[in-house]
Amino acid sequence: MEFPKVRNQVGGNWIEGDTEDRAPLYNPSTGEQIGEVPLSSEKASVAAVEAAEAAYRSWRKMPIGSRVSCLFEMRRLVLEHSEDLAVVIATDQGKHISEARGEVARVAQILEAACAMPILLQGETLEGISAEVGGRVVRQSLGVFGGVAPFNFPALVFAWFVPYAVGTGNTMVFKPSTQSPLFMQRMGRLLEETGLPAGVVNLVHGNRTVVEPWYEHPAVSGICLVGSTPTAKEMAARCGRGGKRSMLLGGAKNWLVVLEDADLDLFADQFVNSCFGSAGQRCLAGSVVAAVPAVYDRCLEVMVEAARKVKVGNALDPEVYMGPVISASAKSRIERYIEVGVEEGSTLVLDGRDPPVADPGGYYVGPTIFSEVTPCRRICREEIFGPVVSAVRIEDMDDALGLIEKQDFGNGACVFTRSLYYAERFVSEADVGMVGVNVGVCAPHPYLPFGGIKESHLGSDKVQGGVGIDFFTQRKVATVRVSPPGGSVAGDIAAKSRAVRSCVAS
Ligand code: NAD
Repeated sequence: MEFPKVRNQVGGNWIEGDTEDRAPLYNPSTGEQIGEVPLSSEKASVAAVEAAEAAYRSWRKMPIGSRVSCLFEMRRLVLEHSEDLAVVIATDQGKHISEARGEVARVAQILEAACAMPILLQGETLEGISAEVGGRVVRQSLGVFGGVAPFNFPALVFAWFVPYAVGTGNTMVFKPSTQSPLFMQRMGRLLEETGLPAGVVNLVHGNRTVVEPWYEHPAVSGICLVGSTPTAKEMAARCGRGGKRSMLLGGAKNWLVVLEDADLDLFADQFVNSCFGSAGQRCLAGSVVAAVPAVYDRCLEVMVEAARKVKVGNALDPEVYMGPVISASAKSRIERYIEVGVEEGSTLVLDGRDPPVADPGGYYVGPTIFSEVTPCRRICREEIFGPVVSAVRIEDMDDALGLIEKQDFGNGACVFTRSLYYAERFVSEADVGMVGVNVGVCAPHPYLPFGGIKESHLGSDKVQGGVGIDFFTQRKVATVRVSPPGGSVAGDIAAKSRAVRSCVAS
């Protein structure tokens, strides 16, 4: 397969990066270089903001039906090209092709929800504030938004940001990760077929330099990010100083809690997908399994048995379950965490370092499980973002709830139980933004809101579903007095009441 040269798309034109700086792009399954990504300058980023600003003037006035037609086209094109898009994701991001297909299918579902824009954008009214005064709330666009994507979900994050930003009447400059830019190259071409006017969506590749001018540029209304917590924290501070809206989805450390009445067969199945899907590089990846004493040993056996069956290898190999991690440095970081786990005194039950694979140049770490991990250890608190799981003994569900509450992160947590009482208490009390009962990955369905709390989510608002428009719209409140032509309202009311009296008298 030939890969397109990675270019920026500004104001409808595909252009080379404006500097000589390039980041190499690798296929993580093989370690081969498959391209180069331009590291664009601030000047290139400002040019994209200006293109988006120019497009905004007419795009905001475009009838809602015309804007939504573009979203319908986006959905159609995503479905029509789904296999091609999935292959592209599997190639530079490295998630297994079956998961890449799932990501593309999810993009189509998020687009379906965004196609309800004419309903989502409807405002509120309040009549009768006084005889002649009414109030109404209208949702309006704001201007240009900057969107920044992480390496692990290049397509999903496009769908969280772009359709909602442009469907609500804004324009956008989107910066993919330099590690997985190929989806947006392909999608950028497809966007040209949707009827979106030039400049409504602009694509600028590069690193943080691309984002720098957005904090102060007067045309930029807000910045949204999906990325790590340190990046989110820095952006939250800079957006605050620059007076920009921010919606910043950050890192995570997700717990799976197993109670004594759990269905362990169901747990085993969910555990594998949760902890080893996308090689543990999901913001909703399970990374701690906390089990009560009655099931801890059996639970660990089940985990090891299931993990041993996970076949690791090339993301395009249909026989494989788990692909590589994103880069050589990610592999080293994860392997270092495995060393830390051993140094801290946890028991390494399954060591995923150097798994047997057909592509020795790829960046592979196999399923790794530690047991007897205590909650204050680094491997239990820090985001490893790889297929490494800590098994923790807990006394009971209250113990687990307390430990989850003490965490800095608050993305997701799941409980495995047959008890409705424990399930409902967990839903109510787990100190996270997304909870699951008897599911390993508690990712909300695309028609529902997605987002964590605490250090997993800075700034405001959630993505996808009905509330996906909140970040991209402002509520304007209108108070409207309507007087009759040539008369005072009070006089009009008096005249009306006289008319009623004379009618009664006759
Ligand atoms: P990252 O923070 O390194 O990079 C994310 C994006 O921000 C990239 O495009 C990068 O170029 C850019 N960036 C990095 N530093 C920046 C800075 N100082 N200023 C401006 N831009 C900057 O994250 P990553 O390694 O690409 O992605 C993995 C992280 O994303 C994990 O922590 C994961 O939990 C998180 N994530 C969170 C969610 C969620 O929904 N909460 C979803 C997916 C991924």
